[in-house]
Amino acid sequence: MTAAIVTFTQAQVDEIVLAAVVQATGRLNGMPVHIHKCTEGHPWYCASPYCEEVTANPVLTCVNHGGKPTILKGQEPWRGGGR
Ligand SMILES: [Zn+2]
Ligand SMILES: [Zn+2]
Repeated sequence: MTAAIVTFTQAQVDEIVLAAVVQATGRLNGMPVHIHKCTEGHPWYCASPYCEEVTANPVLTCVNHGGKPTILKGQEPWRGGGR
């Protein structure tokens, strides 16, 4: 009998931890999250308050598959510095 050793990549670990955190709290980094469906077929969590479509898992390519990063609160590119 051989013991099954399951190894996870760091990306898989990140995904598992993220999913657990989101499911437990409904939030990510203190922000409410919604779920997008990547054009590659997997779901991913998004905490951007600027997405127009946040219901019904809108299709949006994730950053890992060439999508644009979503804009997180406090990281708005249009925000000037100095204040
Ligand atoms: Zn989003
Ligand atoms: Zn993707």
